[in-house]
Amino acid sequence: MYIHEWQAKEQLSGYGAPILRGYLACDINEAENVIGNFSGERMVIKAQVHAGGRGKAGGVKLANTKNEAYEYARNMFGMKIVNKQTGLSGKTVSKVYIEDVVNIKKEYYLSLIIDRETSELCFIVSRAGGMEIEEVAERDPDSILKVVVNSFYGLQNFHVRKIALFLDDDSKDKNSFIKSHEKFSALNQIVRAIYNCFLDKDASQIEINPLVETEDDDGNFNGLFLLDAKMNFDDSALYKHKEIEDLFDPDEVNDLEIQAAKFHLNYIKLDSGKIGCMVNGAGLAMATMDMIKYYGSEPANFLDVGGGATKDRVMEALKIILSDVNVKGILINIFGGIVKCDMIAEAIVEAAREIDVKIPLVVRLSGTNFEEGNKILEKSGINLISSSDLRDAAENIVRVTKDL
Ligand code: GDP
Ligand code: MN
Repeated sequence: MYIHEWQAKEQLSGYGAPILRGYLACDINEAENVIGNFSGERMVIKAQVHAGGRGKAGGVKLANTKNEAYEYARNMFGMKIVNKQTGLSGKTVSKVYIEDVVNIKKEYYLSLIIDRETSELCFIVSRAGGMEIEEVAERDPDSILKVVVNSFYGLQNFHVRKIALFLDDDSKDKNSFIKSHEKFSALNQIVRAIYNCFLDKDASQIEINPLVETEDDDGNFNGLFLLDAKMNFDDSALYKHKEIEDLFDPDEVNDLEIQAAKFHLNYIKLDSGKIGCMVNGAGLAMATMDMIKYYGSEPANFLDVGGGATKDRVMEALKIILSDVNVKGILINIFGGIVKCDMIAEAIVEAAREIDVKIPLVVRLSGTNFEEGNKILEKSGINLISSSDLRDAAENIVRVTKDL
């Protein structure tokens, strides 16, 4: 589960990481109130959506006066941010965060992830902060350092020194991380905050981009701040963290996905396709989507009804698929292992009668009681195409929806 920037900052601040003063506003009235009461004229208005790249998309605005701030806030509510990270349908801004401005001397990149190669936590650091790290990695891989932390002995001082040395331009300079005790302590505190928060809260990713260094009027080191923060959590561990679960923002999730979650269906809506899929098992669902693409069309969703699919869940799954207006045909692909194909067939028949499915339906049943299942489908008189294997099924659904 993702949380917003302001929520991530709050979490990390609880572990001692320094953040700037900021206030959340959920509509323009709240925003005007915050701006009106803000001490000082300069502030940053930041769109709160679950996606990065807001800066380039106009979702981060630096206001030099309150009048400018009012204008930026007014324009930001309702604005759609569309980029690589939001997908084609984009994200509409319904919350903004209003934060103090700082004079940035340097922007760094610092994140903590789970490294799949070593199965350990791993810091990723770079002096190229504020840019998209994927692009930096491609263009200049040497500008990125990975520091793997062995989970048996945990985070040690030498890990922090490694990070500090790498972030320094010139370690001999009195204002470097390595020479300046104050600056090293600031970094140490942030690295430890991120690490402790990650472990305590069962995070799966924490990304600070940029982590900024500020200076005073004399050009001396002034402090390090988390200017941006992104956090993602391990969904399987959320039951242990009610305080994190409470941060869930339904505005950020598709309505159909919320409805599906209530019935323990694994449903993910996809942007571009027109073939609705209902499959039991995640692997089979992936294979089904591949097969649809192979025959030249696109799936409209990923839907795994799970191993213990019941009649109710099958009904609900069909309703959810059909509520997507882009869906022009449905492919049901069920392998009966624990679940019995005759039960699934009955559920399909009942659902199709209740919902009155008007678009083409292709069903492939295989495994336990598939003969009985196919007989039930045949006898029902419902307009559907029954296919014996996945290849046929995918070819059929692509063919009959070609011109729809
Ligand atoms: P993102 O584009 O979604 O990753 O949003 P960020 O929160 O990272 O903001 C993008 C950029 O805006 C940062 O890299 C900074 O360069 C700039 N920015 C954000 N807040 C401030 C601020 O207080 N002062 C200054 N000078 N720049 C800021
Ligand atoms: Mn950022």
